Amino acid sequence: MSRIRPDRITTLPGTTRSAELYERALALLPGGVNSPVRAMRAIGRKPIFVERGDGATLWDADGNRYVDYVCSWGPLIAGHAHPRVLAALSEAAARGTSFGAPTAEEVELAAEVARRVPSIEMLRMTSSGTEATMSAVRLARAVTGREALLKFAGAYHGHVDGLLAQAGSGLAAAALPASPGVPAAATAATVVIPWNDPDALTAACAAHRFAAILAEPIPANMGVVPPREGFLQQLRASADGNGALLVFDEVITGFRVARGGAQERAGVTPDLTILGKVIGGGLPAAAYGGSRALMEHIAPAGDVYQAGTLSGNPLAVAAGRATLELLDAAAYDQLSATTAALAAGLAAAAADAGVKVGVAAVCGLLTVHFNSEPVVDYAGARGCDLDAYAAWCRALLDRGVYPPPSQFEAWFPSLAHGEREVEQTLAAARDAFAEVACR
Ligand SMILES: *Cc1c(COP(=O)(O)O)cnc(C)c1O
Repeated sequence: MSRIRPDRITTLPGTTRSAELYERALALLPGGVNSPVRAMRAIGRKPIFVERGDGATLWDADGNRYVDYVCSWGPLIAGHAHPRVLAALSEAAARGTSFGAPTAEEVELAAEVARRVPSIEMLRMTSSGTEATMSAVRLARAVTGREALLKFAGAYHGHVDGLLAQAGSGLAAAALPASPGVPAAATAATVVIPWNDPDALTAACAAHRFAAILAEPIPANMGVVPPREGFLQQLRASADGNGALLVFDEVITGFRVARGGAQERAGVTPDLTILGKVIGGGLPAAAYGGSRALMEHIAPAGDVYQAGTLSGNPLAVAAGRATLELLDAAAYDQLSATTAALAAGLAAAAADAGVKVGVAAVCGLLTVHFNSEPVVDYAGARGCDLDAYAAWCRALLDRGVYPPPSQFEAWFPSLAHGEREVEQTLAAARDAFAEVACR
């Protein structure tokens, strides 16, 4: 239930603190935000200004509370302000917040990543997933001596120029910039094909010699659209046949869908892996890694230049390590069960209300696609009833549940989401589906 805490109200009657903050923010930040989806324009409402979070709960600046399924878009697999993460952070902060020099802790974090993800023998940390992707692409181009990249429509790999690309008219042809300001030359070497389409993959590989085939192994940036049986295996075989590196962007799936990420679940081994989100436990950290032979091309071991003032930042490393320590086998069982209970309950609630949806779910990730057909690619995701999704989200927010405010983003249940939160969510979802049904 949303509720107002009278002690929090410091604004004029008839307005709210969030509305006032939004107005000020609009004058100072483009669209009032520091990253677009937060503005909640896709669901036709104003953003939430957050006051604080604890576990699965978020409080906004007006004192409303929500069960949070955004969880910072993935990093907070242990929920907000987990005591073990906070303890690790304050202990690290007391010793200094940044050195620009190596620390023992970053070596331990690298060792833990390598234990969990056997395809990563060596890694380089960065501060964001975007940086990690950009650097992995540079490495792939350097070692193959090729420039072309293959990516999938609806996949997001950060806002790297060459990957902010959309398919042109010919599927196996150069992609078009997906944003003004991206030079056509930057996407000219990128080819975009539909996800889960074996024939398009075969055709693209026949037409180009790629430096890298880049994929989210379980795409979650067009909503969750899992690979069809055998598709990741085909990616591996196609990369080998083409002479390209297979790069898995596991920024979302890494340490979330399994201890060793999507590659562990699928049994498919990429050449390079990109990590982010969970690896920083809510602080800015990301990484890219692979075999020692590949990674030793990175400076100063090799000649592929890449650097970062705050890379391996001690606070981010401490939060990441503390988070990974919480992620044992029991944690994945729990997260898996929570996700399954939510998915089944949401599907049942929609069916009871007569609203046609499909629910895609993998451990720690789910999407309610407002589409009567199964969604297997970006065209399917775009074919969803976006107005119905928006209305459903607004109805959920009114009932104290904070879903991703876009059909094209995943829900991120965490270890802090227990039975109580799931029940509260499903009760709100039933009401919200009923409201959407009689629109
Ligand atoms: C979030 C995300 C990125 C970009 O990470 P940032 O830290 O936001 O730059 C890259 N790839 C995937 C799959 C992501 O979900």
